[in-house]
Amino acid sequence: MPGPVRTEAVVLRSIRYGEADRILHLYTPGRGRVGAIAKGARRARSRFGARLEPFMHVHAGLHEGRSDLLTVTSVDTVAVYRALREHGAALDAAARACDAVARLFETAEPHPEVFWLLVNLLALLDGDVAHAQAGTGLAFRLKLLLAAGIVPQLAACAVCGETEHLRGFSGAAGGVVCAACEAGSFPLSEAAYGFLVGALGAPLASAPEASELVLRQVERAIGETAEHHAHVRLRPVLAA
Ligand SMILES: [Zn+2]
Repeated sequence: MPGPVRTEAVVLRSIRYGEADRILHLYTPGRGRVGAIAKGARRARSRFGARLEPFMHVHAGLHEGRSDLLTVTSVDTVAVYRALREHGAALDAAARACDAVARLFETAEPHPEVFWLLVNLLALLDGDVAHAQAGTGLAFRLKLLLAAGIVPQLAACAVCGETEHLRGFSGAAGGVVCAACEAGSFPLSEAAYGFLVGALGAPLASAPEASELVLRQVERAIGETAEHHAHVRLRPVLAA
């Protein structure tokens, strides 16, 4: 429906375009991912100022015309997350989180819970750089899988429904698998299983603690799930 649109948004990406413009990827509560152009945004006296940097939480006025790209008409800041911008680790965590949202939720289908989850993560990273740890990043991704409707099955074997001897994980099967169904799976430790269950049940701010070895298994489980069920390859949280 062409016309004016007012929406909250988080800036996922901001790309230089032409002489002085910016193309933005915005994530909104009611319209999913939106592409927009901010004309003249890179001019020194632009009315948008520095309000269209990545990770900014804004109130945006947009105009919807015939193009796929909406045109930004006004921007008011809701949150800048200044402290986050001063820590390399927090910036990196924010960039990976925005990238995961962009890849898993690339359409206009509304997922307000994803918007608020992202805002929650940015506020945590801004409040305490300790949240830039891999455990929080992986807990965030698990919650994204839940919102996308592809959360791994954890309560019983994803192939046969057995509830005992769950010792492997199979992205293709969609969750944990038992000893009899472990072909094509990788071994999942008790601790990694505990992290998956705990992180899904806990608020993002209290993601469970785990060793790097455990987090690597968790990352593999999340990565294989996203590849098999959303055909999306996520940038790794843990360095190779
Ligand atoms: Zn089984």
